[in-house]
Amino acid sequence: MSKRPEEIIRDEIRALAAYHVPESGGMVKLDAMENPYRLPADLQVEIAHLAETAALNRYPDPAAARLKSRLREAMQIPADADVLLGNGSDEIIQMLIMAAARPGTAVLGVEPSFVMFRMIATFCGVRFVGVELTADFMLDVERMLAEIARHQPALIFLAYPNNPTGNLFDADAVRRIMEAAPGLVVVDEAYHAFADATFMPRLVDHPNLLVMRTLSKLGLAGLRLGILCGRKAWLEHVDKVRLPYNINVLTQLIAEKVLQHGDLLRQQAAAIKAERARVFNGLQNMPGIRPCPTQANFILFRTTAANRIFDRLKQRGILIKNLHGAHPALAECLRATIGTPEENTRFLDALKDAVNAA
Ligand SMILES: *Cc1c(COP(=O)(O)O)cnc(C)c1O
Repeated sequence: MSKRPEEIIRDEIRALAAYHVPESGGMVKLDAMENPYRLPADLQVEIAHLAETAALNRYPDPAAARLKSRLREAMQIPADADVLLGNGSDEIIQMLIMAAARPGTAVLGVEPSFVMFRMIATFCGVRFVGVELTADFMLDVERMLAEIARHQPALIFLAYPNNPTGNLFDADAVRRIMEAAPGLVVVDEAYHAFADATFMPRLVDHPNLLVMRTLSKLGLAGLRLGILCGRKAWLEHVDKVRLPYNINVLTQLIAEKVLQHGDLLRQQAAAIKAERARVFNGLQNMPGIRPCPTQANFILFRTTAANRIFDRLKQRGILIKNLHGAHPALAECLRATIGTPEENTRFLDALKDAVNAA
């Protein structure tokens, strides 16, 4: 007699809701922190040529040496730090937790934050300790220090800027957490291109710090490339749980090529930041809407009727993210990614109508 799923699939996995990606065909897509800009035509032609001539019959370079040296330059990674690549930073989070998952191990993060920290801990059978942020979404340092002392987490994940709140934590608070941590502190800088702060130079003086980046929010979400930087003493072990050819041939070639045009991605990020200021202003001037300070390519805002406003925007062909119900601190909150000027104007106009009708 073959067994039923209840007897084979772990309880905590059956209890999970699958990561839901909504249908977005034909919509103004402002839900997933993607860069709205495509690459210029001449660069597209160069990429087409790379794809034509790529050795797709061969496995990719497992060390991705050329790509890593481009990344070192582009991201100003300290010379004595090591670099490990993932199929998106999601895969890096998975590698880190897998490598550290002793029985009884805890992983600590803040809430609300990026849900994959908790999800991947669950996938790996590791306990996740979520520490609440303060009411204005800052680190509650005393509480963090107490929970660190109590749970002795192997890993602490901090998104900097944080998602879905958009703000940067106080750098001094992060430093105190690094000093108190018995294990590794992973500073996830997925939104670095839109922020004015980084822990990358701190790798030099904090042996238990790892800095994670991704090309996803920068404009290459479709390539899936995440980057982890830190001491060799840590990364050489994390590298053992990496599947050998995790960065495919096309991702390596195309990322290398686009990084040669670093000013292009910087210009796109600058355009997104300028639009962010305009959208923020628009939101601030709307009755019943309170945007949160942001250093990312999205804005979290509180409303008085999140579900209704979300549905009305959707009817108008605009997809944002409804966070109402995701966490008590996010009650009546919506999150909009910054798009092109035209998309943002459509969003603001539709939101104004939705608020008036609500
Ligand atoms: C989007 C996001 C990621 C995931 O990035 P990928 O490289 O696309 O897997 C990681 N961390 C945070 C905080 C994010 O918001």
